[in-house]
Amino acid sequence: MAAELLVALMLYGLWRICYPGLENIFAYLPALCGGLLLVGATVSFGAVFNLILAVKGLPTLKLLHRYSFAIIKILFPISVRIGKIFGIKRRQIEGSFVAVSNLIFMKSGIKVPAKKLLVLSPHCLQLSSCPHKITRDPNNCKRCGGCNVGDLMKLADELGFTFFVATGGTLARQVVVKNRPQAVLAIACERDLMSGIQDVYPLPAVGVLNIRPNGPCYNTRVDMDEVRRVLDLIVDRKEE
Ligand code: SF4
Repeated sequence: MAAELLVALMLYGLWRICYPGLENIFAYLPALCGGLLLVGATVSFGAVFNLILAVKGLPTLKLLHRYSFAIIKILFPISVRIGKIFGIKRRQIEGSFVAVSNLIFMKSGIKVPAKKLLVLSPHCLQLSSCPHKITRDPNNCKRCGGCNVGDLMKLADELGFTFFVATGGTLARQVVVKNRPQAVLAIACERDLMSGIQDVYPLPAVGVLNIRPNGPCYNTRVDMDEVRRVLDLIVDRKEE
């Protein structure tokens, strides 16, 4: 909200500065530009307000979800700078975005049949010493119990969702295009979840944060109880 206010104030200041110049071009141009800025500001405030409603557990306006994601994308770099002043880390801001996005997802009551769900995990979830190449075909995983890839494969076999291990955003997007899922459950760090959820929009995506006991991008883990909890909420078992 602070970033939103800052941008609104900056745009207002810019409009005031440009006012005489715009008036010289055309008498009604300042009013026209002012009106456009006002509409933009109203929509963006509405979008941010929608996110606040989601956080408070109140009903949200589905119509504004698209704008909420767009506004976050625009305001995120400003939020990071403001956060720095108050000692809030970038990762915390990204984590908040993912949490709010998950709230919107859950509030939308989205349920999809398992076969229409795509579960994506990062490559760092695989044990680094594992010799099996699973990025093109996760079925190459021997389910040895060495890492959570095997657990996710077992769950995919049990429930019937598509599971894929992506080495990066480009591959993840290709998998989404190829599989045409109705929803995505993504496992990743805050940064990748934040960009991934926005990238696949309007496809609904819910994120589960990975655990990094060995630092980022190396032998990461995921809380399988949390994955199962989210799956229970979004898989429509009646449709199977
Ligand atoms: S569970 Fe699969 S990916 Fe993980 S170490 Fe075992 S064989 Fe490799």
